[in-house]
Amino acid sequence: MPPITCTPKSLPKAKLHAAAALAFGENPGNRFPIEKLLRLAPSFAPTPDAIAVLRGKYWGKRAVRLSVSFLDGAPLALRRRIVEHMNAWQRRADVAFTLADRDGDVRIARLDDAQQGGYWSYVGTDILAIDADQPTMNLEGFTLATPESEFRRVVRHEAGHTLGFVHEHMRSELVARIDREKAFKYFDKTQGWSREEVEAQVLTPIENGSLLGNPAPDPDSVMCYQLPPEILLAGAPPILGGADITDSDHRWAGKLYPRADAAPVELLAVDGGGEGVHGAGEARGGETGQPRRPVAVIVPGGEAAYVAALVEALR
Ligand SMILES: [Zn+2]
Repeated sequence: MPPITCTPKSLPKAKLHAAAALAFGENPGNRFPIEKLLRLAPSFAPTPDAIAVLRGKYWGKRAVRLSVSFLDGAPLALRRRIVEHMNAWQRRADVAFTLADRDGDVRIARLDDAQQGGYWSYVGTDILAIDADQPTMNLEGFTLATPESEFRRVVRHEAGHTLGFVHEHMRSELVARIDREKAFKYFDKTQGWSREEVEAQVLTPIENGSLLGNPAPDPDSVMCYQLPPEILLAGAPPILGGADITDSDHRWAGKLYPRADAAPVELLAVDGGGEGVHGAGEARGGETGQPRRPVAVIVPGGEAAYVAALVEALR
């Protein structure tokens, strides 16, 4: 099995405006704080394109209820089993996936390599912008004969993307362990990826400034996939990837989507920048030991360097 089997899907450009409007409708906090951007770069023009790109995909700090349908006539027992695994996130988070006969918010296909094969999902509120006859998630080759361990590793991971969680192995601390030239060669050989694809899929770290959470990445998180040892720098610690939702994944998912009966906990912007749109500042109480933040969502805002880079890119 190839070690990286998941590619979170990005929306085509034509969908960005619709997706932005849907993201803002779901959660006003997905709006980029334009005032902050204008303070940093007074000449920046907040065009509709810029506003559509600079946004979050987070469902918001609330109960998430999403229906799930299948596009390929998967047997009922398989549909039930997949939805059950998606609901493994319920242990601490107020989320529920319910099986629907058709027209689900989440639409699952099992496309093979001839189409858009592999394991993937659109991230967070982006699923709302996908055409109703198109999948939002793909689980190539999944059947009732697929080992339980794969349901745990893959289905729960893809459900995490649907909830807005991003790849732990894209965190800058983990990307820093990769030897770029080895990575280009490896993914050309195993996946047929161009240098640009390797750059985008493996080598571009998620900016800490766009994450909501603690800076420490977690190589055991279910949102971390194994990276092949042969692409790592000599002497770098291995990145084995997660096999299932960890206790700390559950804990943080519960903070992103807290249950009504849970004690309130403030979310912490990674850069500690003090202006996180969902409440920044010190994480307080409740947790023992150092806060860890294996489940992270991308939110607008963040550190000055990140914003400045975005401004440059949008000029
Ligand atoms: Zn993934």
